[in-house]
Amino acid sequence: MVRLSEHLYYQKGENKEIVVAAPHHGCVPGCDYFTKEIATMIADHLRATLVFAERLKPLVDLNKDPSRASTPHFRQLCLTYQQIALAEEVELFLEIHGHVRGHYDLEISCGFEFDPHHPLDKEFAENFSAFRNNLRREIANRWEEGLPLPPPSIGVFPFDQDVVMKARKTYLFQKIRKLQLQGRKIFGIHIEVFRDYKTGDPTSPVFTCQEVMVKALADSIVRSFWR
Ligand SMILES: [Zn+2]
Repeated sequence: MVRLSEHLYYQKGENKEIVVAAPHHGCVPGCDYFTKEIATMIADHLRATLVFAERLKPLVDLNKDPSRASTPHFRQLCLTYQQIALAEEVELFLEIHGHVRGHYDLEISCGFEFDPHHPLDKEFAENFSAFRNNLRREIANRWEEGLPLPPPSIGVFPFDQDVVMKARKTYLFQKIRKLQLQGRKIFGIHIEVFRDYKTGDPTSPVFTCQEVMVKALADSIVRSFWR
């Protein structure tokens, strides 16, 4: 693990084409609790590059416009984070967040509606639709009786329009879209996990649910994007 600053950590993965990030992680108000834990588990499964913040969200929002950061130091952290997300070798960028009032337990979005006239969108839409199907199946198959929580409900935008956390205005996801429109094969997935499905305590019964959910997410990603 490399400490890029007091608040930002990075670990290069064997699979350089996948980055898993938790830009709002922190266990203080204003942060996305336990998203580092989920991002780390997914990155382990995918052998992907990992980047996460520690208690940075109240100070600066890493996936927003760097020019809006309050100090040059925070601006630099935004730029560093976004450079990792958009590095040349990256094909898939996963950003993990926590929500408390979405429509689904797992609110997933690519941040845009597919354009039937854009050449890359056909493949993106096929992969993302396969991911939605695979994830539903993986969750249904893996969720065993006796787990303390019901299987998480899953919404994937743009297929499920009632997803609340669409990330349509998120600066970094708009930047990814811009690169796609210029012909680059990079795809971003914004994943919001409901509060009840996250924990930092491996001895908690919820941890088993978290593990099953993470395995389902990781396997669905591999099956859908590297078919
Ligand atoms: Zn967040």
